Amino acid sequence: DQLISQIAAGEVVERPSAVVKELLENALDAGSTQITVRLEEGGVKRIAITDNGRGIAPEQLPLALARHATSKIASLDDLENVNTLGFRGEALASIASVAAVTLTSRTADAPHAWEITGSHLATVTPSSGAHGTTIDVRDLYFNTPARRKFLKSEQTEFGHCADVVRRIALARPDVSFSLSHNGKTVDHWMVGEMAKRSAQILGDNFASARLSIDENAGPLRIHGYAGLPTASKARADGQFFYVNGRFVRDKVLMHAVRAAYEDVLHGDRFPSYVLALDLDPALVDVNVHPSKIEVRFRDSRAVHQFVFHAVQRALAQTSA
Ligand code: ADP
Ligand code: MG
Repeated sequence: DQLISQIAAGEVVERPSAVVKELLENALDAGSTQITVRLEEGGVKRIAITDNGRGIAPEQLPLALARHATSKIASLDDLENVNTLGFRGEALASIASVAAVTLTSRTADAPHAWEITGSHLATVTPSSGAHGTTIDVRDLYFNTPARRKFLKSEQTEFGHCADVVRRIALARPDVSFSLSHNGKTVDHWMVGEMAKRSAQILGDNFASARLSIDENAGPLRIHGYAGLPTASKARADGQFFYVNGRFVRDKVLMHAVRAAYEDVLHGDRFPSYVLALDLDPALVDVNVHPSKIEVRFRDSRAVHQFVFHAVQRALAQTSA
């Protein structure tokens, strides 16, 4: 069972940034408005995430670390209509099989916090701390040296972790985030408007040369900003697309946006954008891969057309 867990863990948490992603999604699913991420040595030595969400009751703490235990899906019907970021009940069990995990939590009505260390078999003991949850992940892959060997340098792993935090923070300006590495604060974003959060993350150039998009058609809505070429940073990672709140890198969507830019601006430089597509969860399958970066639309042609025309119309304002 331990071996199976470790193999499954390789799929779910292939590197520190994947752990950070799973833990941030859990914090958001718990309704948190304030999230702190502390990393040491690229996340390999330590990933500690504290949130102010609804917390986990002491009798639920072992379940949280058990495999295939999720509090988010009660029936197969729910699976058609996932509106939480997590639903597999796999992440914490996987992480606990390849790292030393302490989970500390306090619900709104609890007089104090409780904690559990190691696995779902361990005993829950009283602890201290504010309302919300802290998960402390140490020594990632200490017991799977083969996997540890695949990790890159500390700076590279940290860079991947920081990318994950930025992607998630960009989608949730209603939540404050802070990120530190080896004791130094790297990023800190207060609760605010999307306009401000996107300027903080994509830079002032983006803030001064972007077009707003907000369009509906039937079950589809797209909103966000399309940057003009002058807004691009000299980096290739200014493209952010979200589907129902999840960051995705989807061929259909990327193609639609690129085609709209080419159609209107004919430029060879590919500008920055932050776009969010919201649709009925029954019309999209996010269950493609554990890392959930790709999605499958029930009608990808309709989605492509909708996105293409929305971006095209926004950009056309500039040449009008
Ligand atoms: P999933 O997110 O797919 O349900 P996880 O393994 O990520 O599975 O988490 C297991 C369970 O632990 C969740 O369903 C949730 O009940 C609980 N949990 C995990 N992290 C938190 C958190 N930060 N706040 C509240 N509950 C949490
Ligand atoms: Mg989860």
